[in-house]
Amino acid sequence: MPMRRMTVIHRRPRGGMVLAAGVVLCVHFSAHAPETVRMTAPENPAQEASPVDQGVKLVALTFDDGPHPKSLERTLALLQRHDVAATFFLVGAMAERYPEAVRTIVGDYRFRVANHTYSHANLAEADETTIRDELHRSDQVLSRLAGPGYIRFLRPPGGRVSHRAERLAAQARLQLCMWTVQVNDFLRPPARVIAERILRGCTGPREIVLLHSGVLETLEALEQVIPVLRERGYRFTTVERIMDEPDPRS
Ligand SMILES: [Zn+2]
Repeated sequence: MPMRRMTVIHRRPRGGMVLAAGVVLCVHFSAHAPETVRMTAPENPAQEASPVDQGVKLVALTFDDGPHPKSLERTLALLQRHDVAATFFLVGAMAERYPEAVRTIVGDYRFRVANHTYSHANLAEADETTIRDELHRSDQVLSRLAGPGYIRFLRPPGGRVSHRAERLAAQARLQLCMWTVQVNDFLRPPARVIAERILRGCTGPREIVLLHSGVLETLEALEQVIPVLRERGYRFTTVERIMDEPDPRS
């Protein structure tokens, strides 16, 4: 599977911690051309502007950790009510414990699940055997529940990754998926603060927002920000779309 690397400079969400610049995203280029998004039918298709030029902005909400069945129900209900897509980076051991929660997520076409290691391991410090085991066991659990060949992305817990982990992930046919907007919701700031950080962070044509499962303040914040982001021209999508259709200006 051909892979190419691009460097993404992470912006600093106000009020949030400083993110390391130059975190690497591995972008997979599929054999087929990405879907073209049209806001309106072009008068002359040959002169059709790119989706970005037409003002189509994409944002992917991503939820790390879990599944936590209790809060998941509320999370999915909120996303469904707003017709919003999302990607859930699940911990393999938790998915094993709550298989119905995983089935519920993948049962809705708007949602995807992805690998967040088996035991929420620190991949930057783990040895080769541990990394292989963490990736493989989680992949096995999730693939059994979601279907073979389903799991495409890996988000290393805490964004911590080493060259060794990157190499082993590529061997396991997993693409690293980081983020562009971080709001530190796991520290449980008030919903108002989480909402402000999301809105301040989402300024570009392609944004991936890092959120965490089980944080009720995050759900409150999303109730506020989803309509605002739509007003600002964003479409909600899964990370697949953003990785396959990167900002042509970057
Ligand atoms: Zn995590």
